[in-house]
Amino acid sequence: MTPIKRTLTLLALALVASCASQSTLIPAGSTCTTTTFAVLDDFSGARRGACEVRGDNSVRIEIVPEDSAVQNPSPWFAFKLVPARATSAEVVLDYQSWKHRYVPKTSADGVHWSPLAADAVQVSANGRRATLSIALGNETVWVAAHELITPTVYDDWEARMAARSNARLSVFGESRTGRKIMRLDGTSDSRDVVLLVGRQHPPEVSGAFAFFGFWETVFGDSSLAARFREHFQVISIPLLNPDGVANGHWRHNLGRTDLNRDWGPFVQPETQLIKTLLDKLDRDGYRLRAFIDFHSTNRNLFYTQADTDPTDPPNFSRDWLDAARPRLNDYPFTNEDRPTSDTANGKNYMYKRYGIPSVTYEVGDEIDRAATRAAAAIFAEEFMKLLLQHADQQ
Ligand SMILES: [Zn+2]
Repeated sequence: MTPIKRTLTLLALALVASCASQSTLIPAGSTCTTTTFAVLDDFSGARRGACEVRGDNSVRIEIVPEDSAVQNPSPWFAFKLVPARATSAEVVLDYQSWKHRYVPKTSADGVHWSPLAADAVQVSANGRRATLSIALGNETVWVAAHELITPTVYDDWEARMAARSNARLSVFGESRTGRKIMRLDGTSDSRDVVLLVGRQHPPEVSGAFAFFGFWETVFGDSSLAARFREHFQVISIPLLNPDGVANGHWRHNLGRTDLNRDWGPFVQPETQLIKTLLDKLDRDGYRLRAFIDFHSTNRNLFYTQADTDPTDPPNFSRDWLDAARPRLNDYPFTNEDRPTSDTANGKNYMYKRYGIPSVTYEVGDEIDRAATRAAAAIFAEEFMKLLLQHADQQ
């Protein structure tokens, strides 16, 4: 072979090799297969971007939001690793312009989860990549940013709650793609309404655990809860954004919109349901008394009204949280009382429309789930006590 021919051959081989490595970039929705395992994203709540095979037991997965309008850094991911044989899988989460946030969790069944050990997660200095080491045996391993609390999980929970309490389960309306949005209400004939809303933001799973704990206490067997449910009509919407949850979104519904920036405009079908509900309650002579919207962020906190925005009952949120605090030594939280702003979120909207205590209940992303539920039960007890006290004074 002449030197020129040899050079041309090498160039051709290099070209083939580079094409081959490009062809291993597998788009979301298609199985990404190494010689030892496959990466699947074929289930409710799944999300991954393109997947690149890097070797027999190594892949790089791009972690990408649902649409280009997403601004909030909530880098949700969820996929399954299906082994061809036992191996130690290396999965590089490539956040590109975003940063690693959630402690990756694994599950053998998609139901029971545990966080990956700290030494199995290597985060790059700039936070743009996290390399996971995951031991695979013969069985599928689920990997996700948080537990998969999908619409099906809500369906099961709601059915169980309706069966065990006297709560009334009904269809609130439909999402953009026709998924049912449910409401789970008390049966009081009281005209005083407390509204609870959950899961406007899909990845906010710790907030879902708080919602469950709070709700189960309000609808529990205690005499306090029974008395509360006599005095107040509780309307609850556990999952306002089922499309976002089912599609593994970071923030939006399928209308490229943050639902918690659409209270006021009400242009999305999901938030439109809220407007229709409130208008009907007003027309029928009901009085909103309190509003709680459940979310997650990097630590436990409550967004409430500042003193410049008096509520009816006065100082309710501060008194409520102060009453709960001594009972929650191992659940640190802050009360972030903020002047009402123009942000079209539920808290601002409900305060402006009704002047009531209007609260965003935020749980830290990684707070222990049992502790989150237990704390939510205490917040619910103190909430019920205080609202009943004010009702008795009227
Ligand atoms: Zn949120």
